[in-house]
Amino acid sequence: MIKTVKDINIKDKKVIIRCDFNVPIENNKIIDDSRIKANLKTINYCLKNNCKIILMSHLGRIKEKSDLKKYDLKIVATRLSELLKRKVKFVNETRGKLLENEINNMKNKDIILMQNTRYEDLDGKKESTNNADLARYWAGLGDVFINDAFATLHRSHASNVGIAALLPSSIGFLVENELSHLEELKTPEKPFTVILGGKKVADKIGVIRNLAPKVDYLLIGGGMAFTFLKAEGYEVGKSIVDLDNIEFCREILQKYSSKVVLPVDIRVNQEFSNDGNLCIKDITELSENDIGLDIGDKSVTIFKNILEKSKTIFWNGPLGVYEFDNFKVATDDILKFLVDKKIKTILGGGDIVASLHQAKLENDIYYASTGGGATLEYLEGKILPGLDKI
Ligand code: AMP
Repeated sequence: MIKTVKDINIKDKKVIIRCDFNVPIENNKIIDDSRIKANLKTINYCLKNNCKIILMSHLGRIKEKSDLKKYDLKIVATRLSELLKRKVKFVNETRGKLLENEINNMKNKDIILMQNTRYEDLDGKKESTNNADLARYWAGLGDVFINDAFATLHRSHASNVGIAALLPSSIGFLVENELSHLEELKTPEKPFTVILGGKKVADKIGVIRNLAPKVDYLLIGGGMAFTFLKAEGYEVGKSIVDLDNIEFCREILQKYSSKVVLPVDIRVNQEFSNDGNLCIKDITELSENDIGLDIGDKSVTIFKNILEKSKTIFWNGPLGVYEFDNFKVATDDILKFLVDKKIKTILGGGDIVASLHQAKLENDIYYASTGGGATLEYLEGKILPGLDKI
């Protein structure tokens, strides 16, 4: 059984919480703080329990020295402090005397956020390869460990798996909430429909294999659809195609012919851009210069007819290039439809959740998961390394 915060003794303890503060930053401003907000419940629970709280998180990827400034976590300490209405002491170190002294001087209910855990990746990827010395050092800073970073559960890093193996550990409220919603997809109320979009077929092979036998309908849109359409023999022009996975798509189409639904029309352009010679074409009419960037209106209607009679929906990946206003039409339209019809919908993956935020529907959907890869791997039926030692 995975332990939750209520299963371990944290009262008056020095608690290390692995958070997910991997927020989008533009021009030195956090443009979406929902990830910070998602960790507040666990932090507040530790405050109520009179803990000394040491927060850790990654931010972005650190490959070279120039990434350090870009992914400095200090900006998060400032925002977190505003949200909690109390001081959050930022320590610009991931290990060393300064960090140790600050922790030694902590009083109950003090909060420290240490620098980005991935600063340790600059010198031999110590965080991302779960370096044993680093894990031991970090574990030595606290008494108990709470993992509340759902989006990195599929990774075996020092700041999650490494520390969890060495201290009494549990998951936090965010991870508990995520898991309970994803569990609902294991015994969904039927009809159960999965919508898959986005562009990378390769990332979704495991999920398709695991979910296809359980679903009633599998609706395919986005760039992914073109690999399936190509496997059916259609001309897809210059649309994105994953040549390595055409055979896989053919196999799925044959095995689950009554469940898989592909678009019948496509919003096309002649260049990968928001503007140009835009039109909607039936899938039989695409020419060699067309680039399919969204699904068309007839496809949206077919999808809606299926979704309307569904009782549970899981959706990963946008149906078009939602970053371009002219090609987010189908994604937005179907998101609004699901919200209006109040159909139980669980969204998983960064891009579809970003579409939801863009459409300002985040308060209206049944559930939006904070995980991308972690959500997909959980639904593939894999044991996530971040849960293994808890
Ligand atoms: P993924 O990481 O596989 O879920 O892909 C997400 C990305 O797929 C988003 O950035 C979308 O812009 C992109 N996408 C969606 N539809 C298309 C399309 N028709 N052609 C190219 N990219 C697409």
